Amino acid sequence: MPRFEDKRLTCPACDHAFDTRLVTGFQIGEKEADFCPRYLDGNPLPDFLHVCPECGFVGFEADYRSLPGHKKLDRVRTLLRGFHWQKGQNLGGAERYRRAALVAIYVGKRSAEIADLYLQATWCSRMEGEPDDEQRNARRKAVKYFELGLEAEEFSPDDLPVVHYLVGELCRRLGDSKKAARHFGRLDELPNVEPWLKQWRDRQQALMP
Ligand SMILES: [Zn+2]
Repeated sequence: MPRFEDKRLTCPACDHAFDTRLVTGFQIGEKEADFCPRYLDGNPLPDFLHVCPECGFVGFEADYRSLPGHKKLDRVRTLLRGFHWQKGQNLGGAERYRRAALVAIYVGKRSAEIADLYLQATWCSRMEGEPDDEQRNARRKAVKYFELGLEAEEFSPDDLPVVHYLVGELCRRLGDSKKAARHFGRLDELPNVEPWLKQWRDRQQALMP
């Protein structure tokens, strides 16, 4: 089991205070080709996101500390009403990440952060054995937001090789070979690409039709 510590949080959307737990330790083995970690002692990802039992707000601990402005909070409350939250409802990991991604969109987080939430939704979806469609939908959205983040130059030059590799791999999994090849190809143009990343790229590219 991952390790936890108790924590009390106050919801930015409805002011309700509730008890939750913070992940304080976990063990990772290898990573899959889309960087999904293979956890050795259970998947801690769902517990990184805290769900307000009163209104269904979903966010990282930091999201409970940094309040967005009034206008953004009103938009988030409108979004939450659309979920038809039932008090005390339990959400699986994939659903937590999908909802956190929507909250992130409503509070105007950067595309790179939204992409990361959708990526983690695909990992949880896989680990939780959801139907493939759920994974594909989240993967499509991850690609969309990674590309918006690339367009807006949200990634540091050091991160670009990893981002292009990852988007290439996500596109490959979506069956979009053309786009996958374009992102994989960027690794030949960028400076300072780590040899292991090129090896992973070559291995995944070889799987394409
Ligand atoms: Zn709340």
